[in-house]
Amino acid sequence: MEAEKLAEQNNNRDERQQALADAGGARPNDKNFIPVMTQRANEFFGPGGFDKVIAALNGLAKEGHEISIGKAVEDLGLTESHLCGAPYGEANQGWPHCGECSKSMTFVGQLNTGMIEDFPESGPGLYTIFVCFACNHAANESPAPPGNGWLVRTYTTVSNGSRIRPPRGTKETPARPMKTNDTVKTLPQWDFVDKLDPDFVDMLVRLYPPDVESLYEKLQAVALGPDHEAAFSHVGGYPEWLGGEEIVLCKKCQSPLSLLLQLESIESLGLKFGDEGIAYLMYCPNHPADTSLVVQGA
Ligand SMILES: [Zn+2]
Ligand SMILES: [Zn+2]
Repeated sequence: MEAEKLAEQNNNRDERQQALADAGGARPNDKNFIPVMTQRANEFFGPGGFDKVIAALNGLAKEGHEISIGKAVEDLGLTESHLCGAPYGEANQGWPHCGECSKSMTFVGQLNTGMIEDFPESGPGLYTIFVCFACNHAANESPAPPGNGWLVRTYTTVSNGSRIRPPRGTKETPARPMKTNDTVKTLPQWDFVDKLDPDFVDMLVRLYPPDVESLYEKLQAVALGPDHEAAFSHVGGYPEWLGGEEIVLCKKCQSPLSLLLQLESIESLGLKFGDEGIAYLMYCPNHPADTSLVVQGA
């Protein structure tokens, strides 16, 4: 039995060694990995083969809008995008309370997509985002229904609303403007690539069969350039899931919700989504009132 196991292990190791040798011998973290892949791509897919691979990858890119947070200000417009401070609200809309613990929720921020130039996904919308940090854990199995741990109010038109104020005794952090003007390229995580472009996946499998996921990550770094940061806050584009894809369907059209806002924890503003976690506000571009807030930890 022991000998059999040992033989099997050796076999597996031999297969891996062989696959690695077949793939030009380079390992993903070697300095010469990309040069070796470039050479192989040019052999397999003709002159400029590597450029074709990168072009196919860039074909999957979605434009997002990078978020930068400004200094605390007093005189923000009622419907401007911002974090903290007080939200826009309309008549009869009070401060939301959590459906699970019945405590008042914390206002995270509001996003006005009508103020983003060329926002590609949908018409204008103002979204005000509330969270109950006590009930909204990164460890939650599946996203809770609206009202339980989170609430997002969507306004596709704004009429005669005003700033609504939290219940007395709540500490209010001064509003910080949320700027969303810089566009940024985002690429899908490996898990989604198969669904998006199986032909591209076939190319990658030919190039580097031993570890196609690592190859994809290295190619992402080439396509995104050296200044790219991981898991940054942005509007639109692809979500960068910390804990695997979370699919939520629109209740009206049953299509999977898209990313509207990916927001990193900002502890200095009291926004802590689990352990260095990220909040993902998902929405349906065709039914913007259909939203879900998913929190995942590092
Ligand atoms: Zn709660
Ligand atoms: Zn829908």
